[in-house]
Amino acid sequence: MSRPRRRSALLPTPSWGWQDAAACRGEDLALFFGPEEESWPQREMRERRAKQVCAGCPVRVSCLDHAVSRPEKYGTWGGQNEDERTSERRRRLRRANAA
Ligand code: SF4
Repeated sequence: MSRPRRRSALLPTPSWGWQDAAACRGEDLALFFGPEEESWPQREMRERRAKQVCAGCPVRVSCLDHAVSRPEKYGTWGGQNEDERTSERRRRLRRANAA
C-alpha cells in the first residue's frame, strides 16, 4: 500500500534563481515581515515602504508567482501582502477553473 504524499511533495520544486536580482537584497527583512505586535498604522506604513521597493523590482512577477503558488503566509512578496495574495490565489484558481 502506498503512503499518502505529503502536501510539500505535491508542490513544484522552487527555483530561487530570480532572487539574485531582487531589489530587496540587502534591505532589512523587518520591512517585509513585520513584528506580531505591530499596530495597524505601523503595518500600513511599513507595507507601503516595502511595496515601493517591490514596485521597482525586476523580478516582481517571479516573486509574486512563487509566493502565490506556495503557502507563503506572511510578509510582502511581489508587492502584495498576505490578504492581497489570498485574493490573487483565488483569482488565479477561478481563472484556471474557467479555462
Ligand atoms: S518583488 Fe519585492 S519581495 Fe519580491 S524580490 Fe522583489 S523586492 Fe523582494
